[in-house]
Amino acid sequence: MKFSSVFILFFMLEMSVAQAQRNCGTAGYIQQLITTDPFIKNSFNKAAAQITAVSNNSAARDIVADEIINLPVVIHILYNTSIQNISLAQVQSQLTVLNNDYSNLNADRINTPTVFATLVADTRIRFCLAQVDPQGRRTTGIIRKYTKTDFFSPEDAMKYAAQGGDDAWDCKRYLNIWVCNMGGRTLGYSSIPGGPAATDGVVISYDVFGTTGNVRSPYDKGRTATHETGHWLGLKHIWGDAICGTDDVDDTPVQQYYNYGCPTFPHVTNCSPNGNGDMYMNFMDFTNDDCMNLFTKGQKIRMRALFAENNIRNSFLLSFACDSTLAQGGALPAIDTTVAVQPFAGLKIYPNPLQSIVTIEYIGELKASVLKTINIFNVTGNKVYSGTVISAKTNINTAGLAKGVYILSIQEGATRITKKLIKE
Ligand SMILES: [Zn+2]
Repeated sequence: MKFSSVFILFFMLEMSVAQAQRNCGTAGYIQQLITTDPFIKNSFNKAAAQITAVSNNSAARDIVADEIINLPVVIHILYNTSIQNISLAQVQSQLTVLNNDYSNLNADRINTPTVFATLVADTRIRFCLAQVDPQGRRTTGIIRKYTKTDFFSPEDAMKYAAQGGDDAWDCKRYLNIWVCNMGGRTLGYSSIPGGPAATDGVVISYDVFGTTGNVRSPYDKGRTATHETGHWLGLKHIWGDAICGTDDVDDTPVQQYYNYGCPTFPHVTNCSPNGNGDMYMNFMDFTNDDCMNLFTKGQKIRMRALFAENNIRNSFLLSFACDSTLAQGGALPAIDTTVAVQPFAGLKIYPNPLQSIVTIEYIGELKASVLKTINIFNVTGNKVYSGTVISAKTNINTAGLAKGVYILSIQEGATRITKKLIKE
């Protein structure tokens, strides 16, 4: 069949089910990008391979083991009518949902079937409205901008000021979320790891964003943003976008296809591994907002793999934008994204946030012959500690440090690792 007729058939199919089912635009968007630019497929594949490599390597995973990862969020609100210029309360309600869902503190987690309860994860990923903008100024993390565009399609115009949208903030430090009118059909879509910087982020229709204000049932519990942010963090749909496909996650059962509405448990199909059937209450299925309630431990591993050293979202571990005290009207402290390969895969630094002692532990090989210097800097670049690594486990007294954000730097030969430390 020619492309055009496939497209028309797909379009008609989509139209016929649009009113009854969740419509996530991500898979179609990614397919369109690949069609337009065949080379981008290599970039997506490389990113996916990196995620898999870290997910399968427990030492690499340990680097970001269970440390809280804070993601500064900037919300670009694009409105053509006043109803699309959503309230602060609506924005805040969405942040609350994201934080609850990603920490397994969502009230409806009690609806998770008992057989799946042991798989549920607190991802230890948190979201804040950015407090510091890319120029180092105080910000609310919310941009409001009138647009002449009636409604947008999943083709990225909302991400460019020149096309009636608003330009992305640095995607190495901020999660960009555009809230605009998607015309009532597509609820939202997301970039995936490996895509271009200018279009990196999540798009959500204004009427399915948050839990208050202009939200429409059955997408009024903020789960569209939970789902799309899952894509931004490298998760696939739970059915793998194929009949009985794979989402590359070990603990999500194979399921035949997507679910919509809210099935009755258990929903068993031909490819269910056992009588528990589909995990249709997973945030990466297509069920209604009030039907979804979990991410699994396997999904958590894949999401957090993105933040490991050398991986695509590692720079977020050094983003300061959640801390308003750092707004000084100048450039933010430089993010050192020096590529550190070995030997740092075997290095752990804990606890973080700091207590009275921070421990630097080599769990891999410690080459005693190579001088390893440790420096800790405050955010204005002043050195507050200097020392050397002399054994596999080095304790540093941090009791005297004031509350705030610090950068730990370990220089080992020609290689350097930097890590953000927080003193609470
Ligand atoms: Zn999706």
